[in-house]
Amino acid sequence: MPPPDVLGSDYLDLLSQFGLSPASFEPSSVNTADIEAFTATFVAHQGQESFAEYLKEALAKEIGSQISSANYRADFILQRSNRRIRRAISVSPSWAAAAEDKQVFVGEFPTGSINAEARKTANGYLILINTGLLYFVKQVIEALCSDQSNEQTLIEEIAHAVLAYLVRTDPVYGPMPNASDNLALTAQQLEFAVYDFIIAHEYGHLLRGHLDADEQNRMLAVDAASLPVINKSWEQEYEADEVGYALTLSEMKELNWQTVDRLLQSSEPPTNLQEWRDHMKLAGVLAALAAPTFFFVMEKLIVKAHSALHDVNFETQLTSTHPPSESRREKLESNAPFPYNHYLSYGAMLEDLIAPVTELTREFAERP
Ligand SMILES: [Zn+2]
Repeated sequence: MPPPDVLGSDYLDLLSQFGLSPASFEPSSVNTADIEAFTATFVAHQGQESFAEYLKEALAKEIGSQISSANYRADFILQRSNRRIRRAISVSPSWAAAAEDKQVFVGEFPTGSINAEARKTANGYLILINTGLLYFVKQVIEALCSDQSNEQTLIEEIAHAVLAYLVRTDPVYGPMPNASDNLALTAQQLEFAVYDFIIAHEYGHLLRGHLDADEQNRMLAVDAASLPVINKSWEQEYEADEVGYALTLSEMKELNWQTVDRLLQSSEPPTNLQEWRDHMKLAGVLAALAAPTFFFVMEKLIVKAHSALHDVNFETQLTSTHPPSESRREKLESNAPFPYNHYLSYGAMLEDLIAPVTELTREFAERP
């Protein structure tokens, strides 16, 4: 639910221009009793008291920072990422100065398509993330983190997610895979990291002033044959990627490198609360490092599947306004500050599946 302020009404106005209104759900409250029950179950299953202690602390912090206690899932996800990015902006003097006096509202754009955008309104800036994108990220990551021994099931699940988006145009028709127990945390961390990157990329446009020149760019972009305009738009995407990536990696500065070395070298799980804090912070940073790769591979999958379904080269159409995901990825990866990263394997796994998933999606779509 949007806050009852002017920017919130800009958000509602924009949605109504598309005949949309925000998704409304019954408020769900997570209370301390739920956390107690959850952690007790965890201890009973895994026998790790210190991890349960960590979870309790982390969840309490997450809930304590909620603006309102009533949250619907998409809202929770978006506001969580928004808080993290705002925090990263606030600790950097130059970004804090660029963001000063800028009112920003992050909200869901309730349609099934996979898109995100930032725009300027009369009262500030709106960062809008389409429902389809939120779902697709979750569907693909949960599938990759489910039982990985059965590749065919994995291919089918991802093909269903692609089909739901490209053919049925509603993520509700997509699969709802659940990560298997031991990969549930990995899945969640990777999901959150991808959402953080998407929102941080949009903040990147805002902080670099791209949105303020929006009207002008939109007019110029109409002349698609004009190459310098196209280059400018590509350049802006690269800039937004770069700023966004740096914002999502802000916590890297808070890592204790002695602990990092020890954690990376040890195969033993942490044994006390402080070790869990360090471990999870490191895991969050590693997920943030891998998030753009994952996002760009996902985009590549969509582009390939769309091209196959319609017998067109969708990539050529797209690149008239956007740089290809491949080159955005290369640019970021070449600057990646930290070589070790096991989360990158999920992006690689997805990349290997692009061809079979595309083929199966086409097969599904041709079925009567
Ligand atoms: Zn962009």
